[in-house]
Amino acid sequence: MLTQVRRASDETTVADAVTILRRGGLVAFPTETVYGLGADALNPEAVERVFEAKGRPADNPLIVHVASAKQARRFAADLPESARTLMEKFWPGPLTVVVERNDLVPDLVTAGLDTVAIRVPRHPVTLALLEAFDGGIVGPSANTSGRPSPTRAEHVVHDLAGRIDFVIDGGPTVIGLESTVVDCTVAPPAILRKGALTREALEQAIGPLQRPDSNGMSRSPGTRHRHYAPRARVVLTPPEDPERFAAVLKECADRRQTIGLLVHSPALKSLRGSVRTTAVTGSEDLARQLFQALREFDAAGVDTIIVEAVEETGIGATIMDRLRRAAEERTE
Ligand code: AMP
Ligand code: MG
Repeated sequence: MLTQVRRASDETTVADAVTILRRGGLVAFPTETVYGLGADALNPEAVERVFEAKGRPADNPLIVHVASAKQARRFAADLPESARTLMEKFWPGPLTVVVERNDLVPDLVTAGLDTVAIRVPRHPVTLALLEAFDGGIVGPSANTSGRPSPTRAEHVVHDLAGRIDFVIDGGPTVIGLESTVVDCTVAPPAILRKGALTREALEQAIGPLQRPDSNGMSRSPGTRHRHYAPRARVVLTPPEDPERFAAVLKECADRRQTIGLLVHSPALKSLRGSVRTTAVTGSEDLARQLFQALREFDAAGVDTIIVEAVEETGIGATIMDRLRRAAEERTE
């Protein structure tokens, strides 16, 4: 299959993408979080192709993207008060609500669950696409399952060229981390997957959410799977701890490993010994650059990526969630 890449600003991009979606094809699209891999949510064969192209486990449900809260009602059996408030306040934006689904939604989309995840992304061209399509578009991250999410069209092409029909190139995404998934079928609502919208912002809007539980029972199915992992080993060191960081760097160098550094403390930016250093200015910058940096380290062929951790407040909590999962020991 030939994968066409088209600039978001080209006049015919949206119309051509709609034609492909209507035929059951796959279209990758930019959002404010990461790139999504789109297919008609009501066409089970098209949805099946999304799972195949990504190599995504069938037990990991997909988010349905729509143009507006009004469109979201087409897929929901019930919209609790909490969901309506959150949709009103944060859409378009990096919030996914999980609500009871109706019979229109194919089982494949929800992995057999009786709930459906819905989001309105904040990106002008993708909103135009959703409006013109006038339906739901499933949109998991447009990467090979398990790898760092795509924050540029080049990442989508790297992972999925030849497996999908069309890529809308909208440049680098502005946030760089996925949406926050909130279960609104329980009271108070619960965060199922940490994301770009912070717990603090959600609680300011609707009051206290469920406390995170230690046994992980209320997690999204997808958070059980291996995720966000570059080929290189990832090692985390505490924030603002130059001695510890230098010790880890030395240990890796002594073992003759090639090293990539991802740091934010000014003291660490000039450390020697790495093949490549990415220095960010703080948590938001790290969020934006994280997946791109992991991919660049892989392209540079480093063995170990040493990452300086950030404080776990606001977006920092989501960054650390992704980093811990990228750093998980692998068996492959
Ligand atoms: P992705 O779009 O690949 O970044 O991931 C979507 C996330 O939403 C995954 O963690 C899914 O498990 C989660 N998700 C999608 N639908 C549901 C649902 N009905 N209930 C709970 N989590 C969901
Ligand atoms: Mg994903």
